[in-house]
Amino acid sequence: VMSKNKSSESVKVVVRCRPLNRKEESNGSAEGIVQMDLRLGQVVLRNPRAPPSEPLKTFTFDAVYDANSKQRDLYDESVRPLIDSVLAGFNGTIFAYGQTGTGKTYTMQGAWLDPEKRGVIPNAFDHIFTHISRSQSDKQYLVRASYLEIYREEIRDLLDPNHGSAKALELRESPETGVYVRDLTSCVCKSVKEIEEVMNVGNQARAVGATDMNEHSSRSHALFLITVECSQPGPDGRKHIRVGRLNLVDLAGSERQAKTGVRGERLKEAAKINLSLSALGNVISALADGRSGHVPYRDSKLTRLLQDSLGGNARTVMVATLGPAPQHYDETLTTLRYANRAKNIQNQPRVNEDPKDALLREFQREIARLRAQLNHRKGRSKHKKEDMDGEGWERDGDEDTEGDDEVEKEAREYVKQEEQRLEREKEAIREDRFLLAEEKQRLLGEKERMMGDLRKEQEATEQLTAKYKAMESKLLVGGKNIIDHTNEQQKMLEIKRQEIAEQTRKEREMQQQMLVQDEETLELRETFTSLQQEVEAKTKKLKKLYAKLQCIKAEIQDVNDEHVRSRQELEQTQNELTRELKFKYLIIENFIPPEEKNKIMNRLTFDPEEDQWKFQPLVPAERSFSQMKKRPASAVGYKRPISQYARVAIAMGPHSRYRAENIMFLELDMTPPTSVSLDRSSEVECNQSPSADSSPTKDRASRVRKSRSCVRTQCVQLTGPTYSTSYQKHLQSTLPRLDHK
Ligand code: ADP
Ligand code: MG
Repeated sequence: VMSKNKSSESVKVVVRCRPLNRKEESNGSAEGIVQMDLRLGQVVLRNPRAPPSEPLKTFTFDAVYDANSKQRDLYDESVRPLIDSVLAGFNGTIFAYGQTGTGKTYTMQGAWLDPEKRGVIPNAFDHIFTHISRSQSDKQYLVRASYLEIYREEIRDLLDPNHGSAKALELRESPETGVYVRDLTSCVCKSVKEIEEVMNVGNQARAVGATDMNEHSSRSHALFLITVECSQPGPDGRKHIRVGRLNLVDLAGSERQAKTGVRGERLKEAAKINLSLSALGNVISALADGRSGHVPYRDSKLTRLLQDSLGGNARTVMVATLGPAPQHYDETLTTLRYANRAKNIQNQPRVNEDPKDALLREFQREIARLRAQLNHRKGRSKHKKEDMDGEGWERDGDEDTEGDDEVEKEAREYVKQEEQRLEREKEAIREDRFLLAEEKQRLLGEKERMMGDLRKEQEATEQLTAKYKAMESKLLVGGKNIIDHTNEQQKMLEIKRQEIAEQTRKEREMQQQMLVQDEETLELRETFTSLQQEVEAKTKKLKKLYAKLQCIKAEIQDVNDEHVRSRQELEQTQNELTRELKFKYLIIENFIPPEEKNKIMNRLTFDPEEDQWKFQPLVPAERSFSQMKKRPASAVGYKRPISQYARVAIAMGPHSRYRAENIMFLELDMTPPTSVSLDRSSEVECNQSPSADSSPTKDRASRVRKSRSCVRTQCVQLTGPTYSTSYQKHLQSTLPRLDHK
């Protein structure tokens, strides 16, 4: 695929096949179905069910890693360049894709304790902090990490201490930074140890609540995010900040979750679990196709989060993992096709220079502010001391060049001397016989207060210093905060290894190019001496092309079959969902009154941010205050709201007693009452009022209940217990006034 844009580059796709495990070996599949040509970067897949005559399927990738590959090889060849560009201010993404049990987690994390088996993530930690320790001292770095998980289309913060109970996080989009997770915890890390700790905390949080970790990890996506900010003075003398964001993604298992045959909640769950993964597939297809204008990023949380990594501003490496066992042929083939498609995605990476939201800049400002405050304090105490001693304390040179420790020592020394001086003065006052007792007391009190002030001042300074130091320690200065323990020889070795990896990569690229060119130019170079020879050559070529044609035909058949399968599955899911929907409709049509249905329908609004239907509150929150003060409609024409009963009583004749009834009448609301505790005073009112009526007791009782229920429903209508209580207060406050009238 030709790149349209000069700065665009394709997604790098590498494939890794794990060794046969013991179980597979004992199953008799001594020989895997995956063969790899490391030099050419080719994977050859054999169909165990097909006759031997069937041609093998061949795929070419940027690199391939077989069962004997070392973690280090994959890192040096395929990951190191990506991390280097993150350190230079690019966005970078690595994601591991593949069936459960094929080595996604092994590749991304590996076995931490064995240096040979450490995966991409721990190696990246080492890489980042080693780079910082070896960079020039005019560079300042700030590294922070976040860790999240997408499970059933819900984003969970793995670093939030109470993440088990915390609600799912939301995605937000800003024109500045693109899509981000709101309220996601991010930890500033100063060393490999600290960032490893962050990773461990997240891994533990991930395992908590999962009955079967393998099962859980096969159904959820884990994203570890590292942001590296670097500030360096530019040629213009100003400090420029570059921000590189690295996403390390361990995807859910790519095998199809069984959706057919399950119903109700389980169906919805199964549909949700794979939603992100199938959306990822659709995004990759749309991007690889290049013709379809619409890329369905918005279809899932994962694709929205990885939007920049797929067809956007990022460098991306995809590691597709395979198992060699014959029984997984179909899944393996699907993975290879998926990976093959991803090769065609074009990204447009660029350096993120001076973004508005750089945390490093905030840190620098805050540190400068604290520094200024401290200097101010220092200046003040010096000033005082000079006044006292009458001699200069000033030294040559810049204030800032003094070490912080020295400053602190001086400050402490100063405070000690001051205390001693005050103590001496107090002593002198006590000894002084010419002073009156009262005067003595006053002077002593004053000295006491001065000492208190002094201590407070010192405390404040200490606090400020501590804060300043804490903030400054988070900024890593090139070659200063972290000491690089590797010796020169090791460093040389590392560099050599990197060079070799680079060389291997280049060689492979050339080999691949040559292969393509060979096929194209072979024919041009050939000159035929005789007709016979020409016929022979052309026949050979024909045979070759025919074989190729057969391959492609088989491929088309396969893709078609797969398409039909997934279509059938989708149709089945659709049928299940339609059934479900019809059932809900049935309930609505037959058991819910139409007015109620309309009420509910009118309150529904769609929230595009959260991709969900939501209920509008009954009373708009911001207008609630004025709503309370407004006279209710039932009170039109009356001085105050009065009950239907009282109104009837008025109409019946001058029955002044009930005019004072402070009860509104509103339509009976069928929504069940929330909670209301009727005040005693109003209960008394209710009980007393009908006593004057001449109607039979039974009737009376029902009326009491009715009038009470009026109060109740009206409270409920004004939504919520807060209203009911405030309205009760309102009632109480108006009642006495009524009585006086
Ligand atoms: P996934 O995360 O894809 O479900 P895992 O990373 O958990 O798979 O790997 C499954 C098993 O296979 C683990 O026991 C792991 O140690 C082993 N394994 C995977 N890849 C390799 C490899 N390249 N070399 C050796 N063992 C591997
Ligand atoms: Mg895993």
